[in-house]
Amino acid sequence: MSILVVGSVFFDDIETPHGKAARALGGAATYFAVAASFFAPVQMVAAVGDDFPREEMDFLAQRGVDVSGLQVRSGRTGFWAGRYHEDMNRRDTLDLQLNVFADFRPELSPSHRTAEYVFLANIDPRLQSMVLDQLAAPSLIGCDTMNHWITESRADLEPLLQRVHVLAINDEEARLLSGEQNIVLAARRLLAMGPKRVLIKRGEYGVLQFSPESIFAVPAFPLEQVFDPTGAGDTFGGGFMGQLARSGDTSEAGIRRAIVYGSVMASFVVEDFGLNRLRGLTHAMVDQRYRQFVSLTDIDGA
Ligand code: AMP
Repeated sequence: MSILVVGSVFFDDIETPHGKAARALGGAATYFAVAASFFAPVQMVAAVGDDFPREEMDFLAQRGVDVSGLQVRSGRTGFWAGRYHEDMNRRDTLDLQLNVFADFRPELSPSHRTAEYVFLANIDPRLQSMVLDQLAAPSLIGCDTMNHWITESRADLEPLLQRVHVLAINDEEARLLSGEQNIVLAARRLLAMGPKRVLIKRGEYGVLQFSPESIFAVPAFPLEQVFDPTGAGDTFGGGFMGQLARSGDTSEAGIRRAIVYGSVMASFVVEDFGLNRLRGLTHAMVDQRYRQFVSLTDIDGA
């Protein structure tokens, strides 16, 4: 079953305590699509400039990402620059140039409209709603957002939340959106706003999933060195939705396995700058880390 993702495709300048990368391929939709492509076919809808390199288009196509929905506009691809603190859960945005992304309007082709698995990466909630308006009968809709939209566009975001199944946001965004400091109370408040499940991404502390019936916690995979956390949340989303699309299993157990696959993909992406770690990754490596992940939390294990 294929997955549709709508969001940003940018170039990133990234600085972490371990080094720098200039004009690395990034953007939320890119991280999501590349991660999800390890599990299922992916269709991507976004806008890039006419400076977008042929090799990167080829890379996406080689990963099985359908780029027919990538609008190539005259102008420059969006650009983001960020610098991480010593505590890499914290970063500062140094520059943001939306460029051709500024007037991006998602237009879905007939093949996009029939998508069953849909991920609304972090963009203006009005555009996210516009995507949902064009879909025939999606069975699972995941959604991300960020502080900017929570504070500036709450009136657009709240009706959108009533239409999505899984809200995946970080802990800071969960607190801001819910108005609750305690993360459990925040999740309860968010569930009351519409989504059936809320996934709270907590960086190096892992992920918490809340539904009205259950709470599920997964740690982040313990790594000796995290080089670059950029895109970890979107990569998590790609692994999560990818596994759901591959298995078709949206039972509680199926969702829990998908959360572990999402965590596996995120644990890889942070091991190098940008998307570099995913470029050489194999299915065997993904499966091996999945098994390591399961044994990490096997309370009956030797
Ligand atoms: P994350 O680390 O999950 O926040 O994702 C980082 C990615 O989001 C980077 O690759 C950026 O290019 C992209 N990004 C940064 N700011 C924005 C924005 N305002 N809208 C859309 N994408 C953005």
